[in-house]
Amino acid sequence: MRSGVKPDPTYIIKWRNVLARYRGSLCRLCRREGLKLFLKGDRCYSDKCAFERRGYVPGEHGQARLRRKHSDYGIQLREKQKLKRMFGLLEKQFKSYYEKADKQKGVTGTNLLVLLERRLDNMVFRMGFASSGGEARQLVRHSHFLVNGRKVNIPSYLVKVGDEVQVREGSRKMARILDSMETVARRGVPQWLELDKDNFKGVVKMFPTREELTMPIQEQLVVELYSK
Ligand code: SF4
Repeated sequence: MRSGVKPDPTYIIKWRNVLARYRGSLCRLCRREGLKLFLKGDRCYSDKCAFERRGYVPGEHGQARLRRKHSDYGIQLREKQKLKRMFGLLEKQFKSYYEKADKQKGVTGTNLLVLLERRLDNMVFRMGFASSGGEARQLVRHSHFLVNGRKVNIPSYLVKVGDEVQVREGSRKMARILDSMETVARRGVPQWLELDKDNFKGVVKMFPTREELTMPIQEQLVVELYSK
């Protein structure tokens, strides 16, 4: 950089986020958390799933670590990590969701889960336009979707009840989107969403209740961790 030229702060923040993002093996994250996080699309449903083959913590002493007792803090931390990794978030982003959930009325843990579910990239994944959260995030960033008829390329955009998410006309022949739509029946579309496959769109009928969120997470432990 030329001397005397001040760096653009937004550019620096953007690059910090790029550098902070995890770039290692995704299957390793599942094995670390002792849970299938479904981060690799179709592979997660096949017998190639690394967690099915080696369902213990990665590393030299992985099998021994399975038997190790965890402190209360350790259990809460792991629960938070599971949730954070499920949605592919950085620590700072995740904490800001917690703070937002804490300010809302109702049960903080449930508010947190609903907020995370409302992210546009998650909607795209749940509606079956992408085979994993990571793929959904990339497709949103590349502007393949409209929300209520307007282009939105921000993965963290929070959808509202009644919002319509649609694949853009020019993106409807993309093999990645078509393949995902073909296999969506395997995981199913949640009841709180309505999918219109023929028109490449889905509508948010309502926000999910805790019972409708089937992810194996004890969100109360995450709340306990952050309330310390
Ligand atoms: Fe996790 Fe999917 Fe890898 Fe299996 S294939 S370990 S579920 S990311």
